[in-house]
Amino acid sequence: MAEINRAVRGTNDVLPEESYRWQYVERAMLDTARLFGFREIRVPVFEHTEVFTRSVGDTTDVVQKEMYTFDDKGGRSITLRPEWTAGVIRSMIEKGLVNGPLPVKACYIGGCYRYEKPQAGRLREFHQFGIECVGAGAPSADAEVIALAHHLLTHLGIKAFQLQLNSIGCPECRGRYHQALTEYFTARKDELCGTCQDRLLRNPMRILDCKSPVCHEIAAAAPVMLDFLCDDCRAHFEEVKRHLSAAGIDFSVNPHIVRGLDYYTRTVFEFVSDCLGAQSTVCGGGRYDGLIAQMGGPALPALGFAMGIERLLMILEAQHCPIPAEAPCDLYIASMGEAASIEATRLATQLRDEGFSCLTDITGRGLKAQMRYANKVGAKYTMVLGESELAAKNATLKCMATGQETPVALPDGLLKALYDLPRDEALASLTEAVERLN
Ligand code: ATP
Ligand code: MG
Repeated sequence: MAEINRAVRGTNDVLPEESYRWQYVERAMLDTARLFGFREIRVPVFEHTEVFTRSVGDTTDVVQKEMYTFDDKGGRSITLRPEWTAGVIRSMIEKGLVNGPLPVKACYIGGCYRYEKPQAGRLREFHQFGIECVGAGAPSADAEVIALAHHLLTHLGIKAFQLQLNSIGCPECRGRYHQALTEYFTARKDELCGTCQDRLLRNPMRILDCKSPVCHEIAAAAPVMLDFLCDDCRAHFEEVKRHLSAAGIDFSVNPHIVRGLDYYTRTVFEFVSDCLGAQSTVCGGGRYDGLIAQMGGPALPALGFAMGIERLLMILEAQHCPIPAEAPCDLYIASMGEAASIEATRLATQLRDEGFSCLTDITGRGLKAQMRYANKVGAKYTMVLGESELAAKNATLKCMATGQETPVALPDGLLKALYDLPRDEALASLTEAVERLN
């Protein structure tokens, strides 16, 4: 196929017949965010490259291999966001939010771009829902951020997911851990993959995140950060766990979670699901107490998470979680001839003003083809306008679900009939309509 007819590798289209699924989860995300006091922030899709290199970290896969970076025509190095946190924090510092009332709470929904090997659950353009909470250092903040993700997954009807929790300490206790890790991996240096041999020199914790089977196996027996936590970090972690229990949230501690980005401190967590195959993480997050200062802002603690929307939709599908769909059309007006078509336009205008979705024929095709289309798009009611209907100012409203026909005077009888629709009948036809469409 010619390139002009082919989407770029690793990208997806969301077609009109499936977009209701996206709208449903996005609405649930914003609703959940509101329950916890998070409001939406929108930042550009691209930033100066330094925004990401200086925050995400030079030794991460994201910065080393995955960024879409290019020079714009003014010679600036620009990068499409591989994740949202850096851009959101840049904005909060630049616009002074971090100097206002704390904590600053923001959520986001939108695309991310990473040059990765496309496979199920791994795309080059994918979408995230996430939150950032700046200026909250207490353990209750960690629990609140986790509770938001937990609330969302639960209220979407997802049952099979697990929360895994770890603490990766602060720069102080992590220094001692780095030393222990370096000793451990140096002893087995020759067995590590080439990338990890380099990681050993630059950031040994990255090795724990390596996807190569040999490194993974070696990493499984490596020292764990939990054994190196300083008193403050340990106390913080224990209190986070107590808050989670108070919120009724189950978790397991997994000392191998380190997260792929450099800016994390203390609490890190992932929500994983068995339905996702190899790409089992649907949501990842944690605390990044050093990031705001590192990006030129005040020294404020902060934390957040990001959830992959494509992976979330995969779970919803695998677990048959119900997604309510809207019927695309209350009434389809079929028409024959110009005069009827003009009357259809007039009626449709009136009905739409009243809030009914109404379609008319805009192709000029025959009656049979019009009715086939009305059936395909899931019209709840149809009505045919021809010469005789126009002359009599009367038409027949047909309920597509029951076949029941009701004569109506035009235009008032039609409006009245639509208003009198039994509500549950209208609801029952929703699901059917969508099934017909798909
Ligand atoms: P992974 O280990 O799967 O590569 P990650 O640690 O790189 O994930 P994050 O940067 O934490 O992922 O992003 C948060 C979430 O965004 C992930 O848990 C996942 O649901 C989603 N995500 C990340 N990369 C992709 C991708 N290439 N395609 C689809 N979703 C993704
Ligand atoms: Mg990744």
